[in-house]
Amino acid sequence: MSTALRLRDGAALIDTGHAGRAETIGVYLVPQRGDAGRAGRFDLVEVGAEVDLATVERAIAALGLEPGGVERVLVTHIHLDHAGAAGAWASRHGARVVVLRAGAEHLLDPSRLLKSARRVYGDALERTWGGMTPLPATSLEAVDDGDVIDVGGRQVRVVASPGHARHHAAFAWEGGEVYTGDAAGVRFAPWEVVRPAVPPPEVDLAAWDASFERLGALDASELRLTHFGAFDDVARHLAAARERTHAWADALLTWAQDGATRADALRLCDDLARAELEAAGADAATVRRYLATSDAAMSVAGLERYWRTQHPERWPGWKDEDA
Ligand SMILES: [Zn+2]
Repeated sequence: MSTALRLRDGAALIDTGHAGRAETIGVYLVPQRGDAGRAGRFDLVEVGAEVDLATVERAIAALGLEPGGVERVLVTHIHLDHAGAAGAWASRHGARVVVLRAGAEHLLDPSRLLKSARRVYGDALERTWGGMTPLPATSLEAVDDGDVIDVGGRQVRVVASPGHARHHAAFAWEGGEVYTGDAAGVRFAPWEVVRPAVPPPEVDLAAWDASFERLGALDASELRLTHFGAFDDVARHLAAARERTHAWADALLTWAQDGATRADALRLCDDLARAELEAAGADAATVRRYLATSDAAMSVAGLERYWRTQHPERWPGWKDEDA
C-alpha cells in the first residue's frame, strides 16, 4: 500500500509506510515547472530508508510519474530515515543528490554511519532500515549554507540548521514552503503537539536555538516536516518545538538530579509524552504514532548524551550507573 497526499503547490507527500506504520516517515515529491522540456520531471526532498525504496517507487507510479523522471534528491541530513536510499536513487534512477557539504562524505562512504547505527539497532539494522548504497561521487551535489540553487525552475535556499544533527539543512522554496527535516521536531496533523526529535549522538541545544532563530526569520508560509506533514501555523509551531525541546532536556536533567535510574527516565519520558498528548485530547492511535517516532529510548539516549558531553559539570549521571 502506498499513498501520497497532494499539497497546495502541487507537491505530494509520499508515505513510506515505514515498518508497517502509516504516516511516520515522509518523502516529498516536487514536480518541476510544466514547460515542455520538463514534463514528467520532478525532484524529491528526503528519500526515506533503502528498505522502503520500492514503496516510494510505487507511490510515484501511482502519481502517474516514472521514478526515472527524478532529477534531484535533496536530503536534510544523513540519518537513515532521511537519506538511507539516496545512493540507491542515484544508481538506479540517475538522481543527483543535494546534501550539505559537511555531511557528504557519509553518503559517499556510509560505513561509519552504518557502524554507528549498528550500535543502536544491532542485528535489526538491515531489517529495520535496509542497507545504504554508497553514493557515486559523480552524483553528488554538495551545497553550503546560504546557497541558492535552481530546483525544477524554482529558487531554493539552503539553510544550515544544526541541533538535531550537526550537518542538518532546511530547504526554503521561493514559494514560502520550508522543508525542515527534523529541525522543527515531529508532529502529526491535525494535532498541535510537537515532539522533540532528540536521538543520539549529536543533539546540541545551543546550536538548535540559533537554528530556530534562522528558521523563524525565513518568513515561511508552511513548514514541511519529514515526520510528518505540512503545517501553516509557522510561528506557533516553531515556538512550541523550541519550548518542548528545552522542556524535555531540562526534565531529563531534573530526573537525574533527583536520583532516577535510566529505567526510571525511560518511564518518565514516556509519561511526559503521554501527558502532553492526553492534554491535547489525542486518541490512542495518535498517541502510539507519536510514541513510536523517535521513541523514549532514543530521546533519553540523545538528551543524556547531550548533557554528558556538552555540560558534564551539570550532569550527575543515573543513580544506578556507578555500580
Ligand atoms: Zn528523522
